[in-house]
Amino acid sequence: MNLIPINKWHSQLSDIKQVIIAGPCSAETENQVLQTAKEISNIEQVKIFRAGIWKPRTRPNNFEGIGKEALKWLENVKTQTNLLTAVEVATPEHIEHCLLNPQSVDILWIGARTTANPFSVQEIAEALKGVDIPVFVKNPLNPDLSLWIGALERLYKVGIKKLGAIHRGFYPFEKIKFRNIPKWEIPIELKSLYPTLPIINDPSHIAGLTSYIEEIAQKALAINMDGLMIETHCNPKKALSDAEQQLTPNELDSLLKKLKFTDEVVDNSEIIIRLQQYREQIDSLDFQILELLAKRMDIVGDLGGFKKENNISAFQLARWKNILRSRKSFGLDLGLDEAFIKNLLQFIHKESILKQT
Ligand code: PEP
Ligand code: MN
Repeated sequence: MNLIPINKWHSQLSDIKQVIIAGPCSAETENQVLQTAKEISNIEQVKIFRAGIWKPRTRPNNFEGIGKEALKWLENVKTQTNLLTAVEVATPEHIEHCLLNPQSVDILWIGARTTANPFSVQEIAEALKGVDIPVFVKNPLNPDLSLWIGALERLYKVGIKKLGAIHRGFYPFEKIKFRNIPKWEIPIELKSLYPTLPIINDPSHIAGLTSYIEEIAQKALAINMDGLMIETHCNPKKALSDAEQQLTPNELDSLLKKLKFTDEVVDNSEIIIRLQQYREQIDSLDFQILELLAKRMDIVGDLGGFKKENNISAFQLARWKNILRSRKSFGLDLGLDEAFIKNLLQFIHKESILKQT
């Protein structure tokens, strides 16, 4: 994918290293939106204000968002602060409302439930054909990297080049400490497949509780994620959705001051992670080599008994020459060093003779 770097999406993003997105789970009232946005806009690192105006709720009768009326509130956020705005869209109709109000919305995101449905994503993509607007795609609820990539591809195919991903964790089938399982290997794999795709971590939806947000956010920064999306509400206790995971703007400010951003992280964790992957492969191969050697020695032991019974000497020069010749040519074809092959075989053969005698 030939993507436009996030720094080129908007002038406000031009010299940031990590993008910080903050704002309430849902836009509830004009006051709540404006008060939260104003307090957030005093935090230097935050450049994008998020607010859900159409809310995908698990069961009906929960607060399902204000709908298009809230677009006006977001317009006020934009005129009264320096923040860019982002909203979740799930249907072509949502997109139409956003595109008709470019003074309200700068960035769109696709939620986890929508990403899981290729039909919905395709409809969204069609509605965005020929439109130049940045879109973030949250990971699907289920830990299926292809489905996540598929959603990104559908958008890319209709011409969306300002694309990003949001890692919000995966639905846990068993109760765990967090609301959602991070499965860090999935965003890491996505990053290694698409190095230019910005991946933002959403510690709020992984955590489910404010007390876990810091550890998750720090981990995300340590593995070089490109930013954070953190739910922030002027009065979280009164929030109509996700009350337990939203920070106040003050709490967000202290959190951002506490977190170590990539530049400050002494060890580059991407290197550590790569190193770990290499070492795991090597460990696994070493154990396989030892298992094979043990198997070889077992057979050698049986052969020793067989030779003794049949009065055959343990060492047979012709056989040894044959072993050397055939293994050497096999190993050379594999790119191994000649002296190394010879030394290794001598070592193994010596042990084999010992075993037989
Ligand atoms: C949200 O961002 O408030 C939201 C609904 O998130 P998700 O799609 O990750 O569940
Ligand atoms: Mn939420």
